[in-house]
Amino acid sequence: LEVIASVEPRIAEATRQELADQRGSLKLIASENYASPAVLLTMGTWFSDKYAEGTVGHRFYAGCQNVDTVESLAAEHARELFGAEYAYVQPHSGIDANLVAFWSILAHRVEGPWLEKAEKKNVNELTDADWESLRRELGNQRLLGMSLDAGGHLTHGFRPNISGKMFHQQQYGTDPETGLLDYDALRAKAREFKPLVLVAGYSAYPRRVNFATMREIADEVGATLMVDMAHFAGLVAGKVFTGDEDPVPHAHIVTSTTHKSLRGPRGGIVLATEEYAPSVDRGCPMVLGGPLSHVMAAKAVAFAEARQPSFQTYAQQVADNAQSLAEGFTKRGATLVTGGTDNHLVLVDVSSYGLTGRQAETALLEAGVVTNRNSVPADPNGAWYTSGIRLGTPALTTRGFGHDEFDAVAELIVQVLSNTEPGTTKAGGPSKASYVLAEGVAQKVKDASAEM
Ligand code: PLP
Repeated sequence: LEVIASVEPRIAEATRQELADQRGSLKLIASENYASPAVLLTMGTWFSDKYAEGTVGHRFYAGCQNVDTVESLAAEHARELFGAEYAYVQPHSGIDANLVAFWSILAHRVEGPWLEKAEKKNVNELTDADWESLRRELGNQRLLGMSLDAGGHLTHGFRPNISGKMFHQQQYGTDPETGLLDYDALRAKAREFKPLVLVAGYSAYPRRVNFATMREIADEVGATLMVDMAHFAGLVAGKVFTGDEDPVPHAHIVTSTTHKSLRGPRGGIVLATEEYAPSVDRGCPMVLGGPLSHVMAAKAVAFAEARQPSFQTYAQQVADNAQSLAEGFTKRGATLVTGGTDNHLVLVDVSSYGLTGRQAETALLEAGVVTNRNSVPADPNGAWYTSGIRLGTPALTTRGFGHDEFDAVAELIVQVLSNTEPGTTKAGGPSKASYVLAEGVAQKVKDASAEM
């Protein structure tokens, strides 16, 4: 930090403050974690300075021999960790990984057959008229993904996102009574819509998914099954999700972030079957430019960490702790979407406390509890104010929290929620944003969490 301070002291100070904030609060954001010192240090090296467009052994720049070593090792660790036939470790983020996957599917399923029929080797050989016709065909494909308010991600066909614009999209949700995935309803929708891509995976669904059933549905309608395991990759790597709950043996393509439950650097990966490997391997130049070599190196380190037996203990603890947290809420009268959890996250419907998600999120932050507001299924408050808060156990499990600590966390959160009231707008009406937290509660919660 001294070196940084000698150039821009305000960045050094913000960095110092970020460390203090992350250590001094209860980090319950389900998509966050604490990467190891080995992972963090690997990101701050000279690999950051190197350009390496292309893939291993096939670069558009000279001097990439060390990047080749890094990328090969990261891919090898990823294949071994997840039992995948092929791994692509270049995507800079989860969204990039999903874009690579979408365009790989389009390349394999649409562009390839089109070129074959036209007896052309690649798109550069097409006349302008042919090219327009192929582009229309590429833009005329269908995607079926989980809706945002049911727990899906923006990239799963949400209209304002690129995924909702590049595909004709439809969304599947959850059963309005139980909040659970309804595979029969999904099957019926898939039969009717006949998507090219069926996307499974979630950001805010607190339950496990049966990927064998998802594959059956995809096969029945001729869709490619793409699973986005960004949130639960750590539970797959740590062998908590096995058999039908492990997406890798069932999906054609699996994408992930590397920084959530997997506890690596910020980034993305794509795993694929041999059939899809050649098109995924063209991620650069199809979607990506120069890979972040320093981050690929950190991915290799994180995957090596995740291959240790201690990571399986960690992943099991993440899931056990989510159970403890859910039980802690239920016994204190809170309402949970789906009634509980069997993964790493819990979704609390805060409307029973008379609050919006936004009010709950900010009141909790005042008490040093960091969460994020989240829609609940059919949310009456929309995606900005919401009616829920999403809580995850990966970060605090890394800090060593177990059953008793998570029960205490539930107690502290319930204390804040039940001592918070909605505020009023400037015009005097009920506010969805402002709140009043009873005096002394924030400090009491901060003091209690400092002891943990
Ligand atoms: N996919 C899922 C399921 C996610 O939850 C997220 C992030 O929240 C992403 C993709 C996007 O990841 P990134 O923020 O790295 O682009």
